[in-house]
Order: sequence, then structure tokens, then C-alpha cells
Amino acid sequence: MLCDLCSTPASVAYQCKPFVMHPNLPEAIALNRDLYVCSACSALIEAEQWKDLIDRSVSLAIEQRSIPLERHFLVRASTEEFVLKLRKHLQRG
Ligand SMILES: [Zn+2]
Repeated sequence: MLCDLCSTPASVAYQCKPFVMHPNLPEAIALNRDLYVCSACSALIEAEQWKDLIDRSVSLAIEQRSIPLERHFLVRASTEEFVLKLRKHLQRG
């Protein structure tokens, strides 16, 4: 499994209540399973360093997917939405 936040190999699974991304758009995506994260993202979640988690996820996504500069704000907006929803739905021990 790959990390749901940064697409590097995942090593931790968190239970997560189901939620929907972009509920008002045609490309709405439901997350209805465990969340898989790598050890680096897990450490940020445990420390509740949400801004650092967003920054890490955005910069790796831009790099991995060669996203052009004019679309970086879209990646950041959807990552911010994803992390905000995770904070509400993640079930931490
Ligand atoms: Zn990660």
C-alpha cells in the first residue's frame, strides 16, 4: 500500500470514519476504508502538525506528478480539504 497523503510506501493503518471529498463536484470521492500512511506522515499526524503534513503532501504530489506551477494552488486546496476531513474522521488509539 502507498501512503494516502504522499504516495510513498505506507507502514501504518488508521481506522477512519467514511467521508466524501469534493461533495459538490462531479468528481466527488468517498474514502470508506482504513487510511494508509507512511511513517513520516504518521509522525506528523501523531504530533498534530497539520500544516507540516499538508506541506509535505503537496510538495511530494507536485514533484511526483510533475504538476505545472499554475495548478499548484488546486493541489493545495484539495490537500487542505483532505487533511481537514481526516482530522474530523480519523480514529486514533
Ligand atoms: Zn506519507
